[in-house]
Amino acid sequence: MELDLEKKLAVLADAAKYDASCASSGSKGRRATAGGVGSTEGMGICHSYTPDGRCVSLLKLLLTNYCLYDCLYCVNRRSSDVERARFTPEEVVRLTLDFYRRNYIEGLFLSSGIVRSPDYTMEQLVRVARTLRVAHDFQGYIHLKTIPHADPALVAEAGRWADRLSINVELPTPEALAALAPDKDLGVIRGAMTTIRRGIDEHRELVTLKRAPKGPAPFAPAGQSTQLIVGATDASDATILDAATTLYGAHRLRRVYYSAFSPIPDSPSVLPSVSPPLVREHRLYQADWLVRFYGFDARELTTPQAPNLDLELDPKTAWALRHRALFPVDVNAAPRELLLRVPGMGAKSVDRLLAARRWRRMRVADLAALRVALRRALPFVVTADGAGASRVLDAPDLRARLLGRRTQLDLVGVHLRVAVIAPALRAG
Ligand code: SF4
Repeated sequence: MELDLEKKLAVLADAAKYDASCASSGSKGRRATAGGVGSTEGMGICHSYTPDGRCVSLLKLLLTNYCLYDCLYCVNRRSSDVERARFTPEEVVRLTLDFYRRNYIEGLFLSSGIVRSPDYTMEQLVRVARTLRVAHDFQGYIHLKTIPHADPALVAEAGRWADRLSINVELPTPEALAALAPDKDLGVIRGAMTTIRRGIDEHRELVTLKRAPKGPAPFAPAGQSTQLIVGATDASDATILDAATTLYGAHRLRRVYYSAFSPIPDSPSVLPSVSPPLVREHRLYQADWLVRFYGFDARELTTPQAPNLDLELDPKTAWALRHRALFPVDVNAAPRELLLRVPGMGAKSVDRLLAARRWRRMRVADLAALRVALRRALPFVVTADGAGASRVLDAPDLRARLLGRRTQLDLVGVHLRVAVIAPALRAG
C-alpha cells in the first residue's frame, strides 16, 4: 500500500540517521538566497557545523530503504524486518524545495538503499539533483551518496550537480567487508572513488588553465568523503587510521567520518551487542586531525602493544607522554613543526605564538592569552619566565596530573604542607 508523504518522510529520515557523513563544509560559490539559516527542528533535518563555525541544516533522507544488499551492520539490509518506504525523485525534489523555501534547510543529503540495480538507483539519485539544479535553479547544497557499482558515467554526472559526493567504505579491511557486507567489494568502491577524484582533478586543471570561456562546469566542489564504522568488528584504531590514511592519500578525500557502531534491532550474532564508547569515535577524529593538520604519521599515534587510542587522554598528549625525551620544547626558539606537537597547543595558537615571539619573549601569561591549554602544555615547554617542564617531565604521576587527578604525590605534598604550616599557625 502506498504511504502518504509524511509517513514516508518519517520512515526514510529515520533510516538515514545512521549515516554520519553529512557535514556540508567546504562548498564554494553558491549562497542561499533567503538570508539566514533556519534552526527549526523537523523530520530528517540534521545540523552540521562548518570549520568556520557556521551551522547549516540539511534535509537528510534516503530515497528508499528497500535494499537488495544484505550488509549485516545495516538496519536497511535485505533481511531486516523494518518498515519500508520509497520516495519518487519528484517527491524528494518537492520536499527539498518546500523545506528550502520555508528556510528550514540549506540543502539536501540524499542516500539510498539499492533497488533494481546499482545503475537504476544511481540514476534516480542523479535525477533528483539534476531536476533541482536544472528545472528549479536550486542553488542550495547537495550531497549525494554514490552507488559504487554504478556506471562511471552516472557517477560523473552526479558530480556535475552535487556539491559533495560520498561513498561509504564502512569497514577498514577487505576481509571485514567480505564477512559483513558480502555484496560489496572494496576494489569496486575504490574504483568509484577514483572516478570522482579524476573528475575533481580535471575540473581543477581546467580552472587553472582557464580553458573554458565561462569557466568549466563545476564538479563536486566540496570534494568527496566516506564513512568508517567503528566497533562493528575487532579492527583496532591503528587499522582504522591506516585505512583512512590510505583513502586520504589515494583519493584525496575531504573527510573521513568515523561512526560508532550502534546495535540494530535483530542484529546478527556476529555483531557486538553494545556500541563502543562514543569517546573512541572522538579520539579517532582527534587522531585524524593530527594526521591531516599537525604533521603526525598515523602510525605514531598507536603502538604495536597498544593499537587502540588512549580513551582517557587525547592522542597528542598520549604521544607526548611516550616521547618525553623530545621535550621540553622552548616556546621562544622551537620551529613550528615541533610546537605543533606540544599538547594543548592548537595550530592557530602556534601561528599566533610564532608571530608574537618576533617582538617579545613568551611567558606563561602570553601562552594563556594565546589560548594554549596550560594544564596540558606546561609540563612540555619552557618559557621566558622559567615555567618549565623539566621538573615534572620525569614525574611518575605526570599522566595522572594531566588527567587532572589528585595523586599520591600531591597528597603527600598536601600532608607535608599541612605538617609544616599547622604548627606555625599554632605557634602564631
Ligand atoms: S547497500 Fe547500503 S542500504 Fe543496502 S544493506 Fe548495505 S549499507 Fe544498507
